[in-house]
Amino acid sequence: MRVLHVAGEFFPYVKVGGLGDVMAALPRAQRGLGMDVRVLLPGYPALLEGIPGLGEVGLIPDLLGQGPARILGGSAAHGVPVYLLDHPLYHRPGGPYDEWGDSHLKFGAFSFAAAMLGRHGDARGWTPQILHLHDWQTGLAPAYLRQMGEGPRTVMTVHNLAFQGIYSAGVARDLWLGPDLFHPHGVEFYGDLSFLKAGLQLSDRLTTVSPTYAQEIQTPAFGERLEGLLHHRRQDLVGILNGVDTTIWNPARSPHLGMHYSVTRMSGKLICKNHLQRELGLEEGGTTPLLGVVSRLTHQKGLDLLLERVDDLVSQGAQLAVLGTGEPALEEGYRAAADRHPGRVAVVPAYSEPHSHKVIAGCDALVVPSRFEPCGLTQLYALAYGTLPVVRHTGGLADTVVDESLGVGATGFSFHPPHAEALGETLARALRIYRGQPKRWAAMMGAAMRQRHGWAESAERYLAVYQALVP
Ligand code: ADP
Repeated sequence: MRVLHVAGEFFPYVKVGGLGDVMAALPRAQRGLGMDVRVLLPGYPALLEGIPGLGEVGLIPDLLGQGPARILGGSAAHGVPVYLLDHPLYHRPGGPYDEWGDSHLKFGAFSFAAAMLGRHGDARGWTPQILHLHDWQTGLAPAYLRQMGEGPRTVMTVHNLAFQGIYSAGVARDLWLGPDLFHPHGVEFYGDLSFLKAGLQLSDRLTTVSPTYAQEIQTPAFGERLEGLLHHRRQDLVGILNGVDTTIWNPARSPHLGMHYSVTRMSGKLICKNHLQRELGLEEGGTTPLLGVVSRLTHQKGLDLLLERVDDLVSQGAQLAVLGTGEPALEEGYRAAADRHPGRVAVVPAYSEPHSHKVIAGCDALVVPSRFEPCGLTQLYALAYGTLPVVRHTGGLADTVVDESLGVGATGFSFHPPHAEALGETLARALRIYRGQPKRWAAMMGAAMRQRHGWAESAERYLAVYQALVP
């Protein structure tokens, strides 16, 4: 099976969130099943500089009126063949989603290149049977394929339905989309042009990153105005959980930890906790419950709910370590909480891979109170690190964390209504068990660490999706 993934992130070169992790791990797991899987990415500087042995393997004479673009081929550090779309649109400094006023062109051109490579293949004669598109930045590819005629079958994966790529109808001409596509069965969405809607409407199969989210997005509460389309296409829609890349997220091996541990040799975890407390200026103490957050600080992630509970948590004797940046009000709120509670609350306002490992290893529990969560990766990393997740019961969090009340096999704590009181009650329950039933807590840590969330099973499930299209 020949598959071309198309995405805008790729760990460790370009990563904003979970998509980057998925694009690094899924293709590798699929190649492990013997599939011929490759990845097309925008030619961002970090990729042009980071991927060795790049050579030209294709040329697009005119990229949506922006002049010629080259397709470069190379191989990523983890052995996955990579194509880069080399054009000045992608050479700018900054993050992949920084707004320069022409994102519709940037990602329209990327979608166009995906369709061209999908249909015509590279200069060495390689063509995919499946074009696997990820998130709105790639959503126009099936529209271009329609215009081009025959092409590979298409699969679109939604990693977050809230990001849609909506632009005014006027940009359709700049993007070379004909009037035959600008209607509700094509790229049109309430009078505008929507990249994501186009992908969801025109791809052969749809997937999202957990079974629960696949159901939720068919309802108005989670559907972001696309629930009707998604419900209509429910026979073509499947939820497949993300996995953990255990070559990277492994407490027995992570180079970011000062001490290693595993489910059979847990003593190192306490040392990681001491290291973390010391590094962040928290009062040192092995029995003080330490809660952590590793997240974008956004409304989606429910971190305003946690902020409301911080004073209460501190009064119950807990500590809190927060790693992340995001909405200014939340950044400011957590900074103020750290000022109010020196030695008790610490904030690292940064994006830092090393700190993400240190926080997840060093804490006793990781708080993920998301309002919605397509899959969520940090709770999976926390499980692997024996750090019990405290999560809202939604999306992939509901599919991967077993609440303490369920007894044997429980791996964490969950709450239902997206309210600070419900979160507060659940945090209090976790603290009670941490203090009053240490053996129970240890048993839950063991159950969490023994849970397997590898990529192999998910890779098999994606293969089944492809095989339904290419028998
Ligand atoms: P999302 O993609 O919605 O941001 P996920 O839980 O799916 O949420 O993935 C988030 C990814 O980004 C995880 O790999 C997590 O470790 C990482 N991450 C989030 N915030 C930070 C941060 N401040 N520093 C380092 N890594 C972070």
